Amino acid sequence: MDECIFCKIARKEIPAEIIREGNDWICFKDVHPKAPVHWLVIPKAHYKNFQSVDNGQLYGNLMMGIREIVSEHSLENGGFRIVINTGKDGGQTVSHLHFHILAKRSMGWPPG
Ligand code: AMP
Repeated sequence: MDECIFCKIARKEIPAEIIREGNDWICFKDVHPKAPVHWLVIPKAHYKNFQSVDNGQLYGNLMMGIREIVSEHSLENGGFRIVINTGKDGGQTVSHLHFHILAKRSMGWPPG
């Protein structure tokens, strides 16, 4: 998708702080972090939301990618959240499927 901001990040047309990349996904820092660790994992191909994907292989690759990222950064020690906002009422603001990885590292999550 030409105008999709996450497609542009996937194509490296606009900058992002990239954490890790697989063949069909990329993980980068959220530009407005809501937690000490707030990263986004997206498929490189454009899918509008969670319900748009019927490809189990892609979801498998995304999940294994998240698992590798979590291990690499020892996020399982303090715990972490994976959030998928879907649709307007589900709080989705960018119409390109993305998984939020949120962690407070050793400080505990969620806040409050
Ligand atoms: P959501 O509300 O689930 O659609 O989340 C979209 C997320 O994308 C928000 O947390 C934004 O801060 C983040 N975001 C939007 N534009 C960018 C960007 N150019 N680089 C990194 N994160 C972004």
